[in-house]
Amino acid sequence: MQIQASSGSTGSPSYVGLTASDITTWCELGARALYANGFRPGDRVLHAFGMSKGFVGALPVTQILQYMGIVDIPIGAEAGADRLLRVQADQRPNALIGTPYFLAYLAEQAPDIVGKPATELGVRAISVGGEPGGGIPAVRDNLQALWGATAREMLGGTDIACTYWGECEAGDGMHFLSPDLMVAELIDPDTGAAVTPVEGAHGELVYTALRRRASPLLRFRTRDHVVVTGTSCACGRTGYKVRCVGRTDDMLIVRGINVFPSALKQLVLEFTPEATGEMRIRADFTGHSTQHPLKLVVEHAADLPPHHHDDLRTRLETRIRSALNVKTTITLVPEGTLKRPDHIKVALIERV
Ligand SMILES: [Zn+2]
Repeated sequence: MQIQASSGSTGSPSYVGLTASDITTWCELGARALYANGFRPGDRVLHAFGMSKGFVGALPVTQILQYMGIVDIPIGAEAGADRLLRVQADQRPNALIGTPYFLAYLAEQAPDIVGKPATELGVRAISVGGEPGGGIPAVRDNLQALWGATAREMLGGTDIACTYWGECEAGDGMHFLSPDLMVAELIDPDTGAAVTPVEGAHGELVYTALRRRASPLLRFRTRDHVVVTGTSCACGRTGYKVRCVGRTDDMLIVRGINVFPSALKQLVLEFTPEATGEMRIRADFTGHSTQHPLKLVVEHAADLPPHHHDDLRTRLETRIRSALNVKTTITLVPEGTLKRPDHIKVALIERV
């Protein structure tokens, strides 16, 4: 009935086939996540994930929204900020779905493109996924302020379904919502040993699909690393809650210390407005491991006086060292130097 392609951890696509009943299972899994995020039947959603390449942010999200009784407006990230914002201003959908940095970028463009701030475009609820970011307080607060809406995270992946972890109104992690449709285990990625999902536990998610007719999956390793943020919740949901901290594929090992690019990004964001929050890791080594300080390029604000640059650089390096136990060498560049997320997402690691 349907074949989805994932980007795959090696760069070549991997494929998942779905029967009609598998599609229904995917829709039920996804509906629970998006409902937790605040989407409701009767809503209208501007769909700003990438719509091409067979990714699950595209057609499967459309199917989930329609299954929920929600009107999808499938414009897609590829259409660009201009088109998306014009549709938003014309149709005024009350909900928005896409990657967190791209949706923030969209809001920043709104005054130029449609002549009014994004807060006046009628959005009530935002669901973000596809990359870590929605769980970073500074990123979320910025997104919520820009749109005047709630922003909540979800997590999934092509292999098991589209999306199936959803953050509720409490806003402190994504619930596991569907023990009847899938098994989720947490393991130590090095030893494969089971990790009990208690608060503070971290590990890699491993999934088994239940009810799957095509493309069966048994203890599939996702390479997604999560930390458990809670096991009970004011919302009444009983599944434990997680934040995704990154993928094994993204993880760097700096003098033996594991570092996720998203953790570095989070620390750089603490320095706004002196820094813009944009940053890249310049990886001058092959593979994931280095014995040298990690090279970071960080944008400073356009109006930061030059005699404050040394001080900002030192405070950034000190903050990262104290938080992550990792030594960095930071180069400051002027605001606007680094590429903005004008499409789907921008890699935080640049290979040089
Ligand atoms: Zn909850």
